[in-house]
Amino acid sequence: MTETRSTCPYCGVGCGVIIESEGPQITGVRGDPDHPANFGRLCTKGSTLHLTASAAVTRQTRLLQPMRRAGRGEAPVPVSWDAALDHAAGKFAQLIHDHGPDAVGFYISGQLLTEDYYVFNKLAKGLVGTNNVDTNSRLCMSSAVAGYKQTLGADAPPACYDDVSHAQCLFIAGSNAAWAHPILFRRIEEARAANPALKIIVADPRRTGTAEIADLFLPLQPGTDVMLFNGLLHIMLWEGWTQPGYIAAHTSGFDELKALVRDCTPDLVAQTCGIARQDLFTAAQWFATSAATLSLYCQGLNQSSSGTAKNTALINLHLATGQIGKPGAGPFSLTGQPNAMGGREVGGLANLLSAHRELANPQHRAEVAALWGLPSVPEKPGKPAVEMFQAAADGEIKALWIACTNPAQSMPDQAMVRRALERAEFVVVQEAFATTASCAHADLLLPATTWGEKTGTVTNSERRISRVRPAVPGPGQTRHDWAIAVDFAHRLEQRLRPGQPTLFPYPLADAGVEAIWNEHRESTRGRDLDITGMSYAALDERPLQWPMRSGDTQGRARLYEDGRFPTADGRARFVANAYRPVAEPRESRYPFALTTGRLRDQWHGMSRTGTLGRLFGHVAEPAVQLHPQDMARRQLRDGDLVHVTSKRGSIVLPAQASAEVGLSQAFIAMHWGEEFLSGVSSTGKPLAGVNALTTSAACPDSKQPELKHAAVKILKAELP
Ligand code: SF4
Repeated sequence: MTETRSTCPYCGVGCGVIIESEGPQITGVRGDPDHPANFGRLCTKGSTLHLTASAAVTRQTRLLQPMRRAGRGEAPVPVSWDAALDHAAGKFAQLIHDHGPDAVGFYISGQLLTEDYYVFNKLAKGLVGTNNVDTNSRLCMSSAVAGYKQTLGADAPPACYDDVSHAQCLFIAGSNAAWAHPILFRRIEEARAANPALKIIVADPRRTGTAEIADLFLPLQPGTDVMLFNGLLHIMLWEGWTQPGYIAAHTSGFDELKALVRDCTPDLVAQTCGIARQDLFTAAQWFATSAATLSLYCQGLNQSSSGTAKNTALINLHLATGQIGKPGAGPFSLTGQPNAMGGREVGGLANLLSAHRELANPQHRAEVAALWGLPSVPEKPGKPAVEMFQAAADGEIKALWIACTNPAQSMPDQAMVRRALERAEFVVVQEAFATTASCAHADLLLPATTWGEKTGTVTNSERRISRVRPAVPGPGQTRHDWAIAVDFAHRLEQRLRPGQPTLFPYPLADAGVEAIWNEHRESTRGRDLDITGMSYAALDERPLQWPMRSGDTQGRARLYEDGRFPTADGRARFVANAYRPVAEPRESRYPFALTTGRLRDQWHGMSRTGTLGRLFGHVAEPAVQLHPQDMARRQLRDGDLVHVTSKRGSIVLPAQASAEVGLSQAFIAMHWGEEFLSGVSSTGKPLAGVNALTTSAACPDSKQPELKHAAVKILKAELP
């Protein structure tokens, strides 16, 4: 038996795993006792990874060879890699020639490794000359990115997992860590057990598993987070619980914020948010006066049409109370996907460039052009995820390259997404799994390796970079994601810039991946995320946190301990944002607030977890959860089928009473795809999953869609 150290491919906790294998078969997995994210622990998903990689599962679920469809509606037929990539390069070159570089788009994934991400970003921005490269991380993290940049000056979570055990107050907002980040939640439980004085506040419209551990639960109305946070600041100011010394020495913009929150009186906040007045005072006092307050937050803040404002309003509280830059304190966003952070580091989004550079900054564009040996990189902003698909639906984007993600299930407003996939002239899907809904829309299917087979790096929520290593070779004709992108880039270069030296001088063998990482590392020199002190060899010894500059012996666990921030004047900035309601408020025809979220034992569209019967033991089938009083009022019993309908579509599924859900609210898990949950668009076209209902309305700053809220009606289904 061989043992290989690697990293769990599911969530942003980034747990280390030891993969056991015999020959070409993965036979077991256990937690890596030396990995600082998990110290040997794994959750249900992580501890069953090997079972999702068995030969029996692989035979049924994996894409094993390149496939090409002669026309829409035709069955795909096997083709060679050469034929597939030459065809793709020819189609892309022709569309770029006929319509310009912005006629193509690349939609990638927070589950790709950093090296994969780097190549796709360079392929789009460097070779094709378009900034139309975006990622499913847009759907989970972009509000946190914008929030950090607007307030602290850089997209850098300032805290670390160890801070959980140093905190005296934990403020958990819009995060069901108990289910979505289970191994981090174990630390919270341990902190609770070790420190009877620890105060835990949970703010969430749903009384989730995480709320069970709370000393104070704030069941706010959906979307009212900004009002809550501004109201807490009002109380802190009124009671003298802010830190004027810290504000004066290390921040700017407080007067404007103070004027804004003057109107956020406890009565107004209590009424708007639906929270008892006394609970607001208790929360404000615990947050402000504890020796160290750590906020943990996730999609409840991010997936919102005011996602950036929610982030900045929470960070304002940390700055106003000096709860940052010391052990156990700080605003700490949790990443959903295993490498959402790595994608941000290489600038793999439509508005970013390598190493946290800004596309809008001419100097940053010049620096990246110089790094890549190009005269320039394109200035025109690319299309973020939702806009990219809308542009394809409108006929503006003609070709889509989708890698390691399943937009035909995971994007909001599925009716629009399906129109995009049907209208685009050429759709490439680069995937490990043949079972995703997006595969059915592909003109060309490219088989990729996946967990247990890939090599590279990922970065977890606490800025820690870990190695991902292969235990077995990929099955069939699968290839690594970065190698597919590089091979395609070489063929496209022959058509777009013949005779010129390649922009992708990486060997297509495994050594290429380290060459890519080394290039990425060089791009970070002098930046806030500088990793010039790291190497693959050092990462093989232990995972490391950034920044870690050349000459450093270890990375930085905690940021801003000196009170200086990476802004022009070294001060953090308060951002004053008034509360705005959700994009689609409840109304008489759509009287329920639908929210979406994760189950404990499933991951995303279930392409991996859905292969394992035991992971359905926790929750076996889809349901819409409703408050028991709403069930009674509509004469519904558990298991009754209901139509859940928004302005965009309708699905049918069983109703289920749940005390976790507030009155006039509804909850559906995000994971169920078309084999579990079918529906129709408002025009009668077949759709699947909860995203038949969700809205693509997005935060104006982060462009992150409001997956956490849609107005719906719920009617009992008539049996034939
Ligand atoms: Fe994997 Fe996340 Fe579970 Fe850790 S907590 S084992 S990273 S799914």
